[in-house]
Amino acid sequence: MNDKTEKELIKSNILGKVLFSECDIRKRISELGKEITKDYKQKNLLLVSILRGGVIFLSDLIKQIDLPLSIDFMSISSYGIDGTSTGVVRITKDLDESIEGKDVLIVEDIIDTGLTISYLLRNLRSRFPESLRICTLLDRDVRRIADIDIKYIGFKIGEKYIVGYGLDYKQKFRNLQSIYELKLDAVTRDVESLKNSSSV
Ligand code: 5GP
Repeated sequence: MNDKTEKELIKSNILGKVLFSECDIRKRISELGKEITKDYKQKNLLLVSILRGGVIFLSDLIKQIDLPLSIDFMSISSYGIDGTSTGVVRITKDLDESIEGKDVLIVEDIIDTGLTISYLLRNLRSRFPESLRICTLLDRDVRRIADIDIKYIGFKIGEKYIVGYGLDYKQKFRNLQSIYELKLDAVTRDVESLKNSSSV
């Protein structure tokens, strides 16, 4: 799995359908950038990205916002069971700047159950920002547990596990240009065959 190119990953069925192509993503980010530019005129805009998945989205999004702005980063680790979010989150890298009085926009790659972002909202709200909103590239609302209000959504998605454009599976696939469905059974088969071939 590790040394396959994007084309080989598609051929070996590890990557399924392209859900959003590079072109779809670029077009949607340009629309989001225009909306944010309109809404944040005369504001003190600070975009907060959550490492690591959201970084690629953030870097493309800020280029489409025609306003003075700053960016900051947070890193968290979630205590999940089998990749499922529990909402129990630990901050492993905090913001470098104070957010007091700022118009904070959290930029996320994907919101699934919403438990992680709920924790972040509670945490950031206690630091007295002027406003606090969410922008997510992908919204999987079919599995939502927490009641959250998302101001900007790139695309809505269904149940399928996805990778690419910053989104990973075990830290891989973040560099794919498009967003793909990941065939988890094929990944397991591929890892097994690698194990078998290296043991002979
Ligand atoms: P939540 O707390 O909303 O359930 O979890 C959100 C986090 O789970 C995301 O920031 C992301 O790291 C991870 N996640 C949820 N669904 C997917 C998915 O389909 N693909 C990938 N790569 N990560 C996901």
